[in-house]
Amino acid sequence: MITRTPIAVHREAATPFERGGWQRQLREAIRDPVELCRRLRLDPSLLPGARTGHGLFPVRVPVAYLERIRPGDPADPLLRQVLPLDAEANAVRGFVDDPLAEREHTPRPGLIHKYPGRMLLIASPTCAINCRYCFRRHFPYADNAPSMREWEKTLDYLRSDGSIQEVIFSGGDPLASPDRRLAALVERLDAIAHLKRLRIHTRLPVVIPDRIDDDLLGWLTATRLQTVMVLHINHAREIDEAVIAACARLKGAGVTLLNQSVLLRGINDDVESLAALSERLFEAGILPYYLHVLDPVTGAAHFDVPDDEARELVEALRQRIAGFLLPRLVREVPGERSKTPL
Ligand SMILES: *Cc1c(COP(=O)(O)O)cnc(C)c1O
Ligand code: SF4
Repeated sequence: MITRTPIAVHREAATPFERGGWQRQLREAIRDPVELCRRLRLDPSLLPGARTGHGLFPVRVPVAYLERIRPGDPADPLLRQVLPLDAEANAVRGFVDDPLAEREHTPRPGLIHKYPGRMLLIASPTCAINCRYCFRRHFPYADNAPSMREWEKTLDYLRSDGSIQEVIFSGGDPLASPDRRLAALVERLDAIAHLKRLRIHTRLPVVIPDRIDDDLLGWLTATRLQTVMVLHINHAREIDEAVIAACARLKGAGVTLLNQSVLLRGINDDVESLAALSERLFEAGILPYYLHVLDPVTGAAHFDVPDDEARELVEALRQRIAGFLLPRLVREVPGERSKTPL
């Protein structure tokens, strides 16, 4: 068990990986299914399926994440999140391109206002990793990557609605954006008096822990807004020492750390995995927040866990772990004003 005392965390603390900056790691992420299979010594019989899936939603795996995958194991729970499969080409009834009907809630490009009091900004069109089950795998990001000038109009929307207390940076992955851009955006948000909180939904600190560098901590600590980071981790083995170090730096900067997971067939659909995940999250200073059932997006049906089974799993989990380590099992229902508990 690792105890985290924010005061003891120094910004100077070097991260354990010396691979060059995060930008370089982002650029050098693996984007070729052949290379993915080769580096992980996977059976060549997986290649045709990987190519098919890659054609539908491209492979993207940063090396820092790849190194946590067990070579030669096609069932590895980390591998399954990133390896394209033949099954992605299956059309399955009920699985659609925009399962959350987000395109109906974009009053301006890059802005999703569905829930009272908080508003989501698509702060970056890209991700550091492409997760096969992603509900935004068909999202038209090209139409949703505003320039700084266009941001001004989005900010006007925010300024004119005094009921919005919280801005959520989403994506893509918002932390795939350069710090300069994020800092400029946060500075403008800072000046909007009715805003209280900045929330960042990101997987970057998990997949490239070196993302949590001094430049990022600079703008995160400079804002008057309270800061919350909602990470996305689905399996305990995603949390290695580098992730723990990145989380310690964030906590040292006063950031509240939460996690959301997706319940995924073959990855974390058993009580042992979910219990281990919650325990490991807490060791890293992160509280479990949501456990989402899969959004029915085209190409991801093979990850689906039926509702009844999901409820039973969480019931069994409740009897295993501390109450505050239990995530809320939810689904996103288009048109609802919040996530829907199952
Ligand atoms: C999930 C989500 C939020 C945040 O919801 P919380 O329940 O506060 O975590 C906000 N806006 C949109 C569009 C969302 O999908
Ligand atoms: S990091 Fe999040 S938004 Fe990006 S592909 Fe994975 S699930 Fe989707």
